[in-house]
Amino acid sequence: MFNLILFGPPGSGKGTQAEKLIGKYGLVHLSTGNLLREEIAHKTPLGLEAKKFMDKGQLVPDEVVIGMIDNSLVHHKNAAGFLFDGFPRTAAQAKALDKLLELKKTSITSVLALEVNDEEVIKRILNRGKTSGRSDDTNEEVIRKRLAIYKNETAPVSDHYKKTKKFQSVKGEGTIDEIFSLLCEAIDHRMK
Ligand code: AMP
Repeated sequence: MFNLILFGPPGSGKGTQAEKLIGKYGLVHLSTGNLLREEIAHKTPLGLEAKKFMDKGQLVPDEVVIGMIDNSLVHHKNAAGFLFDGFPRTAAQAKALDKLLELKKTSITSVLALEVNDEEVIKRILNRGKTSGRSDDTNEEVIRKRLAIYKNETAPVSDHYKKTKKFQSVKGEGTIDEIFSLLCEAIDHRMK
């Protein structure tokens, strides 16, 4: 199995690149943000609870997102590999993911981190907010809060993967195709 984590701040292009990568490499896309938004759209109790955190730019509790990933892994028994997008976002989530993959007798192959500067990320998210219908994309204060949480809680998760040399930074600025090429190069190198 080839299990990839697409890492990076909100607005760094993880979702856009994930859509292209799953087509090329036949991976199952697991985005906790998308899964949570589906729960919200269906007005499930989990979705209604999660929305309270998401609207404020805060992280949804670990046990909620870990549970969702657990269900998705079980659901996609025969996947050739997974692309994790927006997960793990905390040290506890990274540890839980290791355990869940171990149960499937597999592990993370590669962590690719999209590097984009803060002002570019804020510009991109505000622009996305014009059409995404996401309330957390339209308020600059909420966006800055999401970035601060990324720096304090999520960025340190990279240390977990640097220990095993699975981590690689990729320039996330440029055209969508340029960034996609850089990601493919890194993946092809890992697959050799
Ligand atoms: P995203 O679509 O990845 O930008 O996520 C949107 C929002 O969903 C985040 O700001 C969080 O509130 C929540 N969320 C998504 N993934 C996670 C996660 N792995 N852990 C905690 N909260 C998450």
